[in-house]
Amino acid sequence: MPKKRPKSDQFARKRKILSKFLDDRGRCPHLRPLVAGDSCSEIFKTAENLVEGGPLRHFCASAYVYNPKTNEFLLIRHRKRGCWIPPGGHVEDNERPDITAIRETLEETGIAVRLIGAPAPLFHGEVAIAQPFGLRIYEDGPCHEHMSFLYAAIPVGGSLAMSEREVEDVGWFLLEKILSESFGAAPAVGDWCRFLSKQLPQLLLAKN
Ligand SMILES: [Zn+2]
Repeated sequence: MPKKRPKSDQFARKRKILSKFLDDRGRCPHLRPLVAGDSCSEIFKTAENLVEGGPLRHFCASAYVYNPKTNEFLLIRHRKRGCWIPPGGHVEDNERPDITAIRETLEETGIAVRLIGAPAPLFHGEVAIAQPFGLRIYEDGPCHEHMSFLYAAIPVGGSLAMSEREVEDVGWFLLEKILSESFGAAPAVGDWCRFLSKQLPQLLLAKN
């Protein structure tokens, strides 16, 4: 069996190939926002012609965990990124994104969670799973785009115990603290916490 190249090598190789196509702001030209006059087929053609394989696109999932007793959110300080973000990560092969959010939260913080989401309609043969409250698409590096399902969750067990490989700190924080500039949350994390806090009353009432 040929040995599978480690993921980090694949990323480094792809970044090297892609680096010559970055614009002067270091952004991948085929991940740029659509502008008037763009057509989807043009964008895809450009991406395929520029580099073999095109950009890296990954599905991810994060859990915005809220403790109704203390009104606090659970965040981790990510070692490599140097800022506070909700627990989460890449959706693994054959994994459902709701499971990713639960698994990553337990691995990164030691906290077991239950996802809470507005009830969704179920049609023939569909499985009831928690609905994400947001879908975020952002660049995680040159030509590396993340499509991240955002789930709301409440703690149901466990205790704070961080995985030291990726996480340098973990804790519970009030919204006001997360929104303060000196706190050091990643861009948009405070906005998503504020957005979620407005929907929490309905989500906490909904039967999941
Ligand atoms: Zn990725």
